[in-house]
Amino acid sequence: FRAVGLVQRGMGAYQRVDEALRLPVEPTAPQIPAGRAPAPKPTGPPVTREQPALALRDVHFGYDPERPVLRGVSFAVPQRRQVALVGRSGAGKSTVFALVARFYEPAAGTLLFEGRPATELTRDACRRGIAVVDQNTHVVHGTLRDNITYAVPDATEAEIRRVVELARLEEVVGRLPGGLAAVIGERGSNLSGGERQRVALARALLARPSLLLLDEPTSHLDAINESALTTVMKDVAQECALLVIAHRLSTVQHADHIVVLHEGRAAAGGSHEELLAGSALYRELAASQMLRPGREPGSGDRGWADA
Ligand code: ATP
Repeated sequence: FRAVGLVQRGMGAYQRVDEALRLPVEPTAPQIPAGRAPAPKPTGPPVTREQPALALRDVHFGYDPERPVLRGVSFAVPQRRQVALVGRSGAGKSTVFALVARFYEPAAGTLLFEGRPATELTRDACRRGIAVVDQNTHVVHGTLRDNITYAVPDATEAEIRRVVELARLEEVVGRLPGGLAAVIGERGSNLSGGERQRVALARALLARPSLLLLDEPTSHLDAINESALTTVMKDVAQECALLVIAHRLSTVQHADHIVVLHEGRAAAGGSHEELLAGSALYRELAASQMLRPGREPGSGDRGWADA
């Protein structure tokens, strides 16, 4: 299991920091916009003239210096765009997340947050603007409201409504007796896997991050939840930049840009159609079902290589 893998491989802090990333923060001076700063308005300067939310420039990294994992990775996540990261198991997708969350520093190359080199920012400053939703959705025993607001306990009703809507949780709120006051079982047993993921998403969005890192679930998504998550990601990308480790065809199809990680590099990039046409590696990933065909009603079970 991917996120657990991170923890097991010695990143015991992952979950802790994952929570810390969502802690409310006091207003700050420069650097990454504070967690609860108002989201940039689409009416601002044209997107193309803004600095990307995140950029990696020729990033090199290995947990063991003798065994490089990333060997010159460059790509950018523009403001309010959805970028999907794909690649074989072990390609370094989670490692990119770990570097962006600054659990580790690159051996060479630069990470830029809104144009500012990470080295000029404190780790806290970087993390303030970032939220992480991994595959380990942390649902705690408590009400649905507690689960959504625990990082931002003073959130207003309007803010809570906004994220409930954004994460498509209205149906869940409507279904559970007591709505937001309904107690979620110890392991979120009265929620499906997809619903738990969307609760985690609502919680992350409440902190108004400028960059959301999402490790898409590989399991327990039914067709309805999968299609809901696709819609959610589209809406989320209107509010903040989204970097998603993608495992699903529906996700890459909707992404603004896809980065294919291979042998330590961003080996190819483009839209789904562009990559199908121009990247043998991407077609191979497709054929090997690295990206699972969607199960949305009507999409059938056709392998996506012949899409
Ligand atoms: P998957 O899709 O299987 O999760 P991935 O593309 O996310 O793979 P990473 O988890 O980033 O790949 O792993 C990249 C390489 O780094 C692998 O060879 C992995 O074994 C190694 N690795 C990952 N985390 C650690 C760690 N904490 N310590 C040492 N090596 C690690």
